[in-house]
Amino acid sequence: MMDYDVIVIGAGPGGMTAAMYAARANLKVAMLDRGVYGGQMNNTDDIENYPGYQSIKGPELGERMYETATNAGVEFVYGDVQEVTIDEQQTKHIRTDSDDFTTKVVIIATGSTNRKLGVLGEEKYSGKGISYCAVCDGAFFKNKDVTVVGGGDSAISEGLYLANITKNVNVVHRRDELRAQKVLQNRAFANDKMAFTWHAGVTEIMGDDQHVTGVRMLDNQTGEEKVINTSGVFIYVGNVPNSQMFKKLNITDEAGWIMTDTEMATSIPGIYAVGDVRQKKLRQITTAVGDGGIAGQNAFEYIERLNYEATIKQ
Ligand code: NAP
Repeated sequence: MMDYDVIVIGAGPGGMTAAMYAARANLKVAMLDRGVYGGQMNNTDDIENYPGYQSIKGPELGERMYETATNAGVEFVYGDVQEVTIDEQQTKHIRTDSDDFTTKVVIIATGSTNRKLGVLGEEKYSGKGISYCAVCDGAFFKNKDVTVVGGGDSAISEGLYLANITKNVNVVHRRDELRAQKVLQNRAFANDKMAFTWHAGVTEIMGDDQHVTGVRMLDNQTGEEKVINTSGVFIYVGNVPNSQMFKKLNITDEAGWIMTDTEMATSIPGIYAVGDVRQKKLRQITTAVGDGGIAGQNAFEYIERLNYEATIKQ
């Protein structure tokens, strides 16, 4: 059983910042992740809204954050968290697929995962023309026609990325107005390789034995059905929180987002949450980093209080 002052679950920007702040306060900190550090930054090409950089590649920013955290003394540990429990002494127990840990503070930074569209053919052609990551899979569609589903920041920024590689990008959106930031919208509308299909709900992703060949959609205003030919479908219809393993703690809302106060504290003393997994409005690297700083500092103050109370009792 390995014991720490603080265990951060998830090594995205929020988690790495929280871990770095706690380690700089001279606490013994582990950062657990079930994969490589960096989180969703690893799937992002150019980041243009992180202060200090005109533009930086997602994996590079992840690398720099990791170096800052580990240089401060954070230990990176592989582990897929299965459950967190709390004993009578308020010690937190973390069970992963490989090891068990105890800690005074848990900071949850597990982020979110792409939401599935839930239509016919999505499961069948996943990895055979359907993707949720343009940076990972865009190169397979060089000079081909692709379809992007969604109208948010992800759909438009990834659509712009795909426009550099593919022949044409058709953005299929259920309304006639994009949700994405204006700066991305302007860039997309000005791009000759990008087209838009409005008021369209995808009902089926079609294909042959091997690969995606088309998308069936319904115009939600006229009721008209149409099929377009496409070689690839990139789905960006929002995210779902990675919080299933914390369900028993009763700290999530109905949709699974973790509820915190402005200090990143959940309703359980010593358990904090930061970044995209948190119930909040603006999910960005900058806001995750802000959450992380607050939680890391509060972890330190919480442990100080525990130590003080222990001294009084003696
Ligand atoms: P999002 O903002 O939730 O947008 C999801 C999009 O998918 C919306 O346009 C939505 O349509 C559409 N949609 C949802 N369910 C659908 C369905 N069942 N069928 C068809 N369309 C559906 O998700 P996101 O774009 O992945 O972004 C997630 C978070 O990350 C956001 O906070 C975003 O700002 C942030 N992010 C930021 C950047 C950046 O700053 N560069 C880049 C990527 C992501 P409606 O508009 O009609 O609801």
